[in-house]
Amino acid sequence: MGEDSRELARRARARSGPVEDYVDPDTDPEGPSEADIERFSNVTVTCAGCGTELMDDVSECWKCGRQVGGRGTHESGLPLWAVLTVVVVVLALAVWMLRAVI
Ligand SMILES: [Zn+2]
Repeated sequence: MGEDSRELARRARARSGPVEDYVDPDTDPEGPSEADIERFSNVTVTCAGCGTELMDDVSECWKCGRQVGGRGTHESGLPLWAVLTVVVVVLALAVWMLRAVI
């Protein structure tokens, strides 16, 4: 019974037009893929002050005025000379320890 109705439907559709050209709206290739959604979700940033979702390119929150910036907020706490000093000290320690072993 079910087999017969399916066969009839397929035959009827084939006669009505080119079935091959029909694109199912659920599998639209032009639609937003998961990668696109992921990319767009990265554009927004959440304000640390009030939690408002803001665009990534804004400098401050329009709601509470807090400084917003994807980059520079973490690095700004440690100046370059401090980083260089640490690197030099670590290198000196490494050289000293290697000499002590040898
Ligand atoms: Zn805010």
